[in-house]
Amino acid sequence: MKFIRFQTGNEVCAGVIEGSSIKQVTGDIYSDWEYTGNVYETNQVKLLAPLEPNQIIGIGANFAAEKEDLPDSLPEIPVFFFKPASSVVGPEENIVIPENIDSVKFESELAVIIGKEAKNVPEEEILDYVFGYTIGNDVTAPQFFHEAGHWTIGKSFDTFTPIGPVIETRLDPFNVKVEARLNGEEKQNSPTSLMIVPIREMISYLTKVMTLKPGDVILTGSPVGAEMVRAGDVIECEITEIGTLKNTFAAAGKSVGVS
Ligand code: MG
Repeated sequence: MKFIRFQTGNEVCAGVIEGSSIKQVTGDIYSDWEYTGNVYETNQVKLLAPLEPNQIIGIGANFAAEKEDLPDSLPEIPVFFFKPASSVVGPEENIVIPENIDSVKFESELAVIIGKEAKNVPEEEILDYVFGYTIGNDVTAPQFFHEAGHWTIGKSFDTFTPIGPVIETRLDPFNVKVEARLNGEEKQNSPTSLMIVPIREMISYLTKVMTLKPGDVILTGSPVGAEMVRAGDVIECEITEIGTLKNTFAAAGKSVGVS
């Protein structure tokens, strides 16, 4: 089942999409929802980010180039970081490059969406707490990474977290490829089996630290091949079973300075 959010007129709605047909739903998509009976065609509406995330948590440097490069043991403390919910945009929206820099990096990623409150959940049970999956572009301005190693500013600019186009609730996350095309040319294409910290271990670990809640989004890391890009470049992040998340990079208006 593919959940979306969309705008029709001034109204923001949730829906389930099948082909080009959108059935509007009402209620809490994580627990208690129903069809309203309204049906739209995709060409009548504007697709939005498929959810307004509660929290967004990313994991750093989480893909090996090849199977042989995978480490024998998992890192004791994985590198996690937060991105603000205010950085989210939807399909087809511009990604704005901050004013005093001329390039940023795209990172195509599988995004996991939590559906039930989760605390201290073992790896074997953690997928029961997952609502579904979407695609995230973990846009990054490494020029704003602090020399002490903190990534927050470089990950947090408005528009730096495109997500979408849909939340796919029926996905085998261990059997998909994470792809990216820049101006039509393939740059990333790796199976999720190349993740260094696999999905179950990653999310279970987080629940031992913090309570995860419905609407939390976990960006599971980007395959090799992410690149710096400039205004005018078009990025398509793709996971075949979910869809294609397409955005264009644009030059900024005003922003904070880089030292
Ligand atoms: Mg990333």
